[in-house]
Amino acid sequence: MRQTSIDDLVRFSMELLGLTLTMGAIMVIAAFYAFDGFGLPATRSTLLFCLLALFGCALPLQIYAAARIAGLRRQNERLHLAATRDGLTQVLNRTAFKRAAEAEIGATGRRRARDAVHHTLLIIDADHFKKINDRLGHHVGDEALTAIAATLRRSVRQDDLVGRLGGEEFAILLRDAGLEEARIVAERLRRAIERLEVGPADRRTRLSVSAGGVAFRGPVAFQALYKMADANLYQAKRTGRNRVELTRLGALARGATIEGKPVERHLREAKDARRIAAR
Ligand code: GH3
Ligand code: MG
Ligand code: MG
Repeated sequence: MRQTSIDDLVRFSMELLGLTLTMGAIMVIAAFYAFDGFGLPATRSTLLFCLLALFGCALPLQIYAAARIAGLRRQNERLHLAATRDGLTQVLNRTAFKRAAEAEIGATGRRRARDAVHHTLLIIDADHFKKINDRLGHHVGDEALTAIAATLRRSVRQDDLVGRLGGEEFAILLRDAGLEEARIVAERLRRAIERLEVGPADRRTRLSVSAGGVAFRGPVAFQALYKMADANLYQAKRTGRNRVELTRLGALARGATIEGKPVERHLREAKDARRIAAR
């Protein structure tokens, strides 16, 4: 980010310098034309005055404009962070996560078939979180959410997306990770969170999460992926919590239902949504 602003500043300064030199060249030509009849010394003096005035004004103006732009850029970065981050945990908020995930899924879809890569969407939900709030207080609950988010962020690659969808529910988009790789990552996350403890010394409490996920390839509507990952999360909760439940998109399609609707219908809807989006 900092390198980008330095690059922008250099580019802006070069542009301003180019503009100043162009203006200088125009003045030289104009002075020769306009003062030709007054003799060479008068033309030379006028030219010297114009050039000194131009460069004398341009430099402070350049410094002032560069400083203002750098300030605006920093402010812009702060605003962007505030608009896209969750205030408590500093991972992406729901809207920013969804938007970034959709952009990533769309970009994958546009790649040629031989380059097509798998991604995995994980939905991660803290187990029995209400009990933590009730027993230890809301502030400890907040501390637990912050610790979970930091652990999630630390445990995945820099270019994977991590977001808080709301409450004690997080999502991760593992880029370029198929089912097997995602299983390893999700298990690693689960174990890392299992080692976290919150609360006062005499009432230290361990945390745990359950995760549901779906591995997929090509463009799929985010909502359909979310529903499938969420169905797997529900399964992980139902079968004891502190568990990971993952499937491939295709594997889930045979006969399963989500929210009472056959998965085939979710897929058909996703396909229709894609067709509409492509228009
Ligand atoms: P399960 O294992 O089935 O997910 O049970 P749970 O208790 O985690 O789930 P439930 O949905 O019953 O409760 C979620 C709790 O998360 C309730 C709500 O008060 C708490 N919560 C949601 N957002 C926040 C937050 O920002 N801070 C704190 N401290 N608690 C939150
Ligand atoms: Mg929960
Ligand atoms: Mg929940």
